[in-house]
Parts: sequence; structure tokens; C-alpha cells
Amino acid sequence: MDVYDKIQEIVLGNDIISCAHDLQEFVQQARKETNRRKLVEMLYERITEPVVSSLMCSRSVANKKYCVFNGPFAVCSFLLITLPSITTPLLTLQQIEEYAQELLDTYSAPETPVITPDSVTEIMDYLDKEYDFSNKVFLGNMGHFIILNATHKDVGGTFSVYEGYIGGRRTPVFFLYANKEGGTDTTPECILFHELGHALHYYITGDTNIIPSELIATISALCLPRLPDVPPYMQREIIADVFAVGLMRNTPFERFDRFTFFEEHEKDVFARLVKEILS
Ligand SMILES: [Zn+2]
Repeated sequence: MDVYDKIQEIVLGNDIISCAHDLQEFVQQARKETNRRKLVEMLYERITEPVVSSLMCSRSVANKKYCVFNGPFAVCSFLLITLPSITTPLLTLQQIEEYAQELLDTYSAPETPVITPDSVTEIMDYLDKEYDFSNKVFLGNMGHFIILNATHKDVGGTFSVYEGYIGGRRTPVFFLYANKEGGTDTTPECILFHELGHALHYYITGDTNIIPSELIATISALCLPRLPDVPPYMQREIIADVFAVGLMRNTPFERFDRFTFFEEHEKDVFARLVKEILS
């Protein structure tokens, strides 16, 4: 298999683990070639193409404010966002090699089922109908839900806003993973709602590092009196949980709720809080 076939294999890859192995082989092959610059540029161009075409499809055909990627499209989006940027060919190849190793150290084969694209679509369409969620919370940008069929060593998902990723806009990106086997009792949908909770936090503060003190006061008065004393990173997670519960409350998705440490009447307060923020 020559280096061009290797690029093709990366673009058509179905999961990030085999993709990491392919990237390592690509680096080894590309190092031997004289046209290294062209090969590196070709790799980056080829992973961009499927992402751009599916984005255009979501925008024009489905007329949605969010798009869901899975399979090779998810892998290409993931690479496009996380691959080191191009510098000199040799340095870039070295960085790709380190990056591939980091993927192998971080991800493993999926230990539980990952969320399905249909499930993400059903939840987002519901929230959009109910609250115009994507339009408001993603601030006019396109939310990207990237489903990766792998287990992350630490988390079930992440939410981040990426600058300069396709078109230079502030893109809200959700990476959704298969949860660990035997880990915390949760559901893939519950993880999605938790990440949407982080997005809602971003919506009200513009930066999830900013902890809204009024909100902390409300939650601590209601149910977690020691919340003001815990470190900010834990407060952030609690805020995401509170919003997740509020978003799920009294909806068809309540059955996915695994936040058993909150009382029923507390969940009602969270639902009112979320409604107020999104009204
Ligand atoms: Zn979180």
C-alpha cells in the first residue's frame, strides 16, 4: 500500500484507534518521500472535504443549526479539529506521530454502546422546538456533534468552542464517546445532556471558566450547601449536571436521567431555572 492509499484509508477510517495506527504508518512512509510537503498538505485537504460537504448538507438540505457526524465523517472532523497545525513538513510529521501516540494512550475500543445519530437528532430537534435551543445557545453558529466509537480514558464526552475551525467562526463542538464499562451509572443520552449543560453555562457567561455566583448561591441554598467551597472545576461539573437535569425534566428524555443524588423537588427547580434562561 503506497502513501496515497494510506491517506485514503485515514479519510475513510471508521474509528480513531485504527486511524491513529494509519497516521503512524503515513508518517513512516511520508518520511521516505521527497514531496513531503505535498503529502502533508494532501492529508489535511482530504480530511477537510467530507467535513465541509456534510456541513453544507446540514445547512442547505436539512436547514438545521447543528450537525451530527459519525463514522468516517466523525473521524475526519475530529482530526480536523485536533491535528497539530502545519509547520515545516518534517516537524509536522513528527508532531503527527506524537499526536497519534497520544490518541492511542487516550482512547480504547468502545466499552459500551455509543449514542446513535438518531438519538442526538431526536433530542436536539425536541430542544429546538421547545426552546429554539441551537439558535440561541450556539449564538448563530453551527453546533457540531461528533460521535466517536471509542472509550476515552477519563470522560464520556466534552464540550468546547473552537475558533478558526472551518470558516473562522466560534464553533461549539461536542465530542461524544462510549462510556466506560462498569463506570458511573449513566446513559449515552445523559452524557449528551451533561455536555449540553456545559454549553448552556457557556451561553450565559461566554466562558465556562467564569462561574456565575448567583447560580452557585441558588444551588447551594437549595441542595448543596457546601458548593461555594468546592474548587471551580467541580462547580463547573455540578452546573452542567443541574442544567442537564433541568433540560431532561418533564420531557420524553427523563427516562435517561441518572442523576439520582438530586431530589424530585430540586429537579423541578432546575427545570424552571433552565426555562428562565432559555425564555
Ligand atoms: Zn463535564
